[in-house]
Parts: sequence; structure tokens; C-alpha cells
Amino acid sequence: MSNQPDLSSSPRLAYSGSRIERAADYRGDEAKLAALADNDHAGFYVVGGDLIVLKWHAEEFDPLFSAAEARAIGSARETVFLGLLDAAPRFGAGLDAGAVEPLIARNDVKLIDLRTIAVQSIVAAEHLPPLAEAKAILGWHAHHRFCPNCGAGTKAVQGGWRRDCPSCKAEHFPRTDPVVIMLPIAGERCVLGRSPRFPSTMWSCLAGFAEPGESIEEAVRREVREEVGVVCARVKYFASQPWPFPSSLMIGCHAQALTEELVIDKSELEEARWFARDELKLMLTRSHPERLTTPPPLAIAHHIIGAFVEKGGDVFG
Ligand SMILES: [Zn+2]
Repeated sequence: MSNQPDLSSSPRLAYSGSRIERAADYRGDEAKLAALADNDHAGFYVVGGDLIVLKWHAEEFDPLFSAAEARAIGSARETVFLGLLDAAPRFGAGLDAGAVEPLIARNDVKLIDLRTIAVQSIVAAEHLPPLAEAKAILGWHAHHRFCPNCGAGTKAVQGGWRRDCPSCKAEHFPRTDPVVIMLPIAGERCVLGRSPRFPSTMWSCLAGFAEPGESIEEAVRREVREEVGVVCARVKYFASQPWPFPSSLMIGCHAQALTEELVIDKSELEEARWFARDELKLMLTRSHPERLTTPPPLAIAHHIIGAFVEKGGDVFG
């Protein structure tokens, strides 16, 4: 991987930029979906719990299984129609819990978490968006087996894009949790924080879930105020990234800071401080004298910081 940060204003973010056409109009047609699953060009991404199942052959990983290969791996609890890649159908298959354990001892398949797959580039980048799609929706199925309205068991329908309750007739749709991730900026400086779970030299943007009844801008201002005590005014949207851990959408923003005193919420952050734009550049390029770093290009935080390094106050332009 290059040491040069990608400072482009339209970052190529991992897990986004899918080439798959979701073909949502096929989801309600069970006969059509069955025919697509039997298609010779059908490909299946197989998920076992939180891990992705990969074929391992001749020192290479392959995430795409034929229908017969997917069936041979183990019985699927749910199969989701992801869409069409050109004309080739793509599905996500979530294994029964009992089908995962026997895979661990096998030499022809490996179970690896999606973050590691992305960070180490062990599959072609074009597989990351459908793997993220499959992992997020299969994770939703795994945790929504019962109706939140009446408690009855629910059933997957619409190619896996809805669960229906046979008892109270409620329809349940997959959810995505919005997370705001932002960089408070004052002139040539900005605030970064460190979570206790970060590597000791890494600093990143502040982040938190948007709450019910909040706009993105309001969530950004509240989170910055809660985490570091800084009051923000203008909020400028930058880019977004699907983040299937388990099912978030990262909404990247720059925020104009009106105050500079930091009051750090120690329950959220180990540390936070102001960084000069020049120092950020050294961190992005991994040439900081104290070896301080920012998150890798895989993460949207890298690009939010990179845009400020590149453009300064023009990020609000
Ligand atoms: Zn119900």
C-alpha cells in the first residue's frame, strides 16, 4: 500500500461503489429468484456468524462460491438476493450456527473477519461492497428472528429484504444505523480524539450515533459538545461510507468550531487535543516524529482529515 494519502475530494471508500445492480423489482418474485439461484453464473457470498467464509486454494482467497459449492459448505439459515453483476446473480448465504464449527478444521476454506479482509486486501476490491451488503443484512436477520411488536417468530420474504410476522402481520425492514463522524475545525487547527481501544499512537475523528429526532447537523454539534466541550456552528457534509460492523452508515462531516477550550468526556475518550494542519499531514503520510498516525485509507476518517490537510478552510466552500 502506498504511503501517500489519498487526498482526492471524492475518496474511493472501502465497502462503497458496488457494481451490483440491486434489481429490487425481482425481490417479490419467488420463481424468478429460484431460477436466478440455479443460474450457472450465480455467485454466493457465504457468511458464518460475524465471519466471512473464503475458499482457500493455491495460496489465494476467493470469496465467491457457485450454488453447488455454497450448498456443500453447509445449510444456509437465510439466503438474500443481493442483485445482478452484469447479468450474473449474486446472493448472500448466512450459515446455520451448527454449520460454522466444522469449517474451522478444513484446509480448503477459511473464516476471516471482513475488516481484516479489507485491510489486508486479500480479495479483489470489487468484492468488498457485496460482502459488506451480505454481512450487514444477514447480521440483521440473525438478530431479528422475533417480532418486536408481538414476539412471534418472523419469516424472511422479498428475497431476504423483509421479515413478516405471521401473527400480527407486521412487516419489518432491515435497518441501517446512522453514525456521524466529524472533524471540528478552527482556522488551521482541528480536534482529534483517542478512544481507549485505539493503538497507542493513533488519533481520529470524533464519532457517535445520530439519535431519534436529530438532523445530521444537530447530531454533529451535540456529539462534539458532549465529547470535547467544543461548540460548533456550520456543519458541512463530506462523504458517507457503509460500515457493516454491524450495520452502520458513517456520515462524514467537517464542523466549524466556535470555541477552543476542551472538556473531555473521559467515558468516551482517553484523550483529545488540537492538531495543526501541518502536523496532520505528517500523520497521514506516516512521517510524524512521534510516530502519531491517523486511521488507514480504509476508514472514512482518513479522508475527512485528508480533505482538511489538502483544502484547509475551503472544506466549507
Ligand atoms: Zn408480530
